[in-house]
Amino acid sequence: MLKRRYFWSLLILTAAVVLPGRSEEMPADDGVWDLTELYASPEAWREALEETKAAIPHLAAYRGRLGEGGAVLQTFMDEGTAVLKEAYRLLVYATLSGDINVADSTGSERRSQAQQLLTDLSAATSFQSPELLSLGDDRVYSYLHDTPGLADYRYQIEEVLRGRPHTLSEEAEEILANASSATSGPRDVHSILSNSDIPWPTIVLKDGTAATIDQAGYRKLRALPDRDDRKAVFDAFWSTYKTFEATFGANYSSKVKADVFYAKSRKYDSSLARALDGANIPTEVYHTLLAEVDASLPTLHRYFRLRGRMLGVDQPRYYDIYPDLVSLDKPFPLAEGKRIVEAAVVPLGEDYVGKLTHGINSAWMHAYPSKGKRSGAYMFGAAYDVHPYVLMNYQDDYDSVSTLAHEWGHALHSLLAQESQPFVNAGYATFTAEIASVVNEVLLLDHMLELAESDDEKIFYLGSALEGMRGTYFRQAMFAEFELRTHELVEDGGAISGGKMTEIYGEILERYHGHDEGVLLIDDAYALEWAYIPHFYRNFYVFQYATSMAAANLFADMVLTGEKEKVDTYLNLLRAGGSDHPYELVKSAGVDLASPAPYRSTAARMDAIMDQMEEILAKQGR
Ligand SMILES: [Zn+2]
Repeated sequence: MLKRRYFWSLLILTAAVVLPGRSEEMPADDGVWDLTELYASPEAWREALEETKAAIPHLAAYRGRLGEGGAVLQTFMDEGTAVLKEAYRLLVYATLSGDINVADSTGSERRSQAQQLLTDLSAATSFQSPELLSLGDDRVYSYLHDTPGLADYRYQIEEVLRGRPHTLSEEAEEILANASSATSGPRDVHSILSNSDIPWPTIVLKDGTAATIDQAGYRKLRALPDRDDRKAVFDAFWSTYKTFEATFGANYSSKVKADVFYAKSRKYDSSLARALDGANIPTEVYHTLLAEVDASLPTLHRYFRLRGRMLGVDQPRYYDIYPDLVSLDKPFPLAEGKRIVEAAVVPLGEDYVGKLTHGINSAWMHAYPSKGKRSGAYMFGAAYDVHPYVLMNYQDDYDSVSTLAHEWGHALHSLLAQESQPFVNAGYATFTAEIASVVNEVLLLDHMLELAESDDEKIFYLGSALEGMRGTYFRQAMFAEFELRTHELVEDGGAISGGKMTEIYGEILERYHGHDEGVLLIDDAYALEWAYIPHFYRNFYVFQYATSMAAANLFADMVLTGEKEKVDTYLNLLRAGGSDHPYELVKSAGVDLASPAPYRSTAARMDAIMDQMEEILAKQGR
């Protein structure tokens, strides 16, 4: 996540835009994107890079000049914005062209050049925040009042002023800036340990095949249909982590101490307050999420009991979480997947459907897996004057259709925001980012239940929705609680070690899974899971998956009423992009994430899905 306190350098990387009308016939869809809409050729990219680089010293020359008046400030902002916009476009091209051939080193070279350009731009203009703050609020507001051309930058400028209480003297700021490279080690250490240094074990599965239980092996094999195999995978993986408990503990402890150091240095009450202040999210949101999720754990426990029943397991254990409840053999070729998604979003209105249909059928997406292509899926919408791009690894299954709906939810969010906002306000915060994608997933489920040709098919869709809620809502809230407790422990002067973390995590893990009530048993060895989660090295980040899902459920309910006013309210939230603080934007659209309502409605929705499943199972006599 990039926080957006100080404008240019930290603008969020999610922009997109006004559709260029294609004058020629739409090309036949071969599932490949057209990057010439960004730059006609690699040479054109290189030329644009050189031109953009050359503009940077010119911006640096504004140092010491922002107090000359609103007109100078505006010129500086206009020029800086133009450079930043081009730098993002360069980064998009570099990223996309590199990701379809990761082995080709020109791709990674281009990407690091684009990233270096952004770093240089940020360094060259780093004087802007301290200079604006030194002018004083009155003077800055008089510039805003007297210079109409600054209107587009008002929000960004006010964000700088908002940071005043936590901005230090120039000397102290410099020390903190220099300290950051010294405190960023733990994340790298975690990645190196997890991905290369640890000697992962090899086990022999029941069918005689040998399998290495490293990160990829664990993720793939933890869902094996045979229960003994799953247990063997879990035991091998977590006992390996146990060997490194002290090392991971010392490493994570350093990270937490660094967070506490920065929070104290910047005069925040807590690490949580510092982390949430970047997007001006009230800490109440975090606390309400944890309290409400804790109160709704009976719903999660009901899911685990249902899961045990469907898997035919009397006493579910932690390794029974991942296998599919039912399988679905139905193929979903890309053309059909697109049609399904287009039909699913009909409740969002003609304009939305029209834009999605246009985008999804244009050369904006690299759809299929291919040799050397990056895995997973993402939407990249930072090329403001072009359009969002989507990378998929589409595999003709329902999971792919669901990912398609998700990523195009992001793409439409970017598209709508860019149509409505100037470049500087189009990028939206992480706090709102997952709303647009999850709303589309909810609409997809609704649509699939209508299309389903059998009860088993219905159960498959309902089951995948439940699994999404477990993974995106409950599990992320569980992580969020662990982060909070470890930080609070250090803030209160306590010491954390690997053993202490296992103890804290184990308690949370058992409570979430109903261990004491006998719902789902957790073996002590599995409480090492904290050491596995890379997101713990991103500061209080994961809670936003849970809050986004809670908000998305309420917005989807609003949209599904079919009332135009409610649909418009939701679409206006998307159009607002990053033009205000994300918590406020969501709240003014009718969902207050500091209140219990969205969380209660999420639990209610999960219960309703289970009601439907149990009804079908009862009918089938299962
Ligand atoms: Zn997403």
